[in-house]
Amino acid sequence: MAVPRKVAAFRLPPLPTIGEIIKLFRLQAQKQLSQNFLLDLRLTDKIVRQAGELKNAHVCEVGPGPGGITRSILNADVAQLLLVEKDARFIPGLQMLSEAAPGKVHIVHGDILTYKMEKAFPKHLKKNWEDEPPDIHIIGNLPFSVSTPLIIKWLENVSSRDGPFIYGRTQMTLTFQKEVAERLTAKTGGKQRSRLSIMSQHLCTVENCFIIPGQAFVPQPEVDVAVVHFTPLVQPKIQQPFELVEKIVRSVFQFRRKYCCRGIGILFPESERLKKTEQLMMAADVDPTLRPVQLSMSHFRNLCNAYRKMCDEDPSLFAYNYREELRQKKKLPKNTSHSEEIEEE
Ligand code: SAM
Repeated sequence: MAVPRKVAAFRLPPLPTIGEIIKLFRLQAQKQLSQNFLLDLRLTDKIVRQAGELKNAHVCEVGPGPGGITRSILNADVAQLLLVEKDARFIPGLQMLSEAAPGKVHIVHGDILTYKMEKAFPKHLKKNWEDEPPDIHIIGNLPFSVSTPLIIKWLENVSSRDGPFIYGRTQMTLTFQKEVAERLTAKTGGKQRSRLSIMSQHLCTVENCFIIPGQAFVPQPEVDVAVVHFTPLVQPKIQQPFELVEKIVRSVFQFRRKYCCRGIGILFPESERLKKTEQLMMAADVDPTLRPVQLSMSHFRNLCNAYRKMCDEDPSLFAYNYREELRQKKKLPKNTSHSEEIEEE
């Protein structure tokens, strides 16, 4: 778990304020890119403190923008800071910061969703998975439209120990829309319990650190923001492939207001749905009348293990796709992604 600490004594030389940088380089936030900036360095320091001790650490900041969080990371006296920024307008301002911390900053103009982090850090930082996390941290305040697909991608990387996790159990401190953070951390029975809760908590310790009110950003978004810290677990709570866990969890939460057996049913072709659903629920020892939000992590583990056994016995089962069967039956157009029968989470 992240230990809040004082920001280290290293200080950047005097620089224009973030507000001045925005004016100087004409960095007006682009609404369509959901750009909302943090100008208050006490707040950016507070975010960076959630990452834990950063002195001499190697850090990747995603979406540095005008560089508020970047300054706080540099003031924490890190050894190396990798910046991945998609919007070219921010690069000159980031270069100015880089000159103020000679030899420490490496700027990549790129998209974090496709950037390969496997070779981003020195090899000697690698730790065994069972050891303490490596001295590598990912920190970022990204647009909400990027942070959710990104965390799903990184959770898959945690599961297969590749991407940023080739170095071991790399920790992440990221911002999310408050409601998404509540889903990430929701416990059994919680109103926000969802696919994201299971996918994140079965692979990581997930901590909702604090809320940043929307007013703290320029321009102000319509929602509040939460800072969430992730530390990959030594042992995932469900020891099955990411794809299989996702299939179970997605199916269950597609009918989040129904009994959980309704969602489990869509794992099987209609012709054998009733029989196989009963068989799976019995093998997993899960009460079919529980609602999806009432299922604990061990319920999900049992469901995944029992489904895996059925897939091993019938290798065609995993490829079965409920939506495809619906489409064929109802002759729905190929690109119809939502059926009126499915309640998405
Ligand atoms: N970190 C800055 C702050 O806190 O003030 C900026 C935050 S702004 C919400 C998000 C930043 O992420 C912007 O600079 C935007 O250009 C950048 N960004 C958006 N999508 C990105 C992507 N796919 N890869 C890298 N950067 C991205």
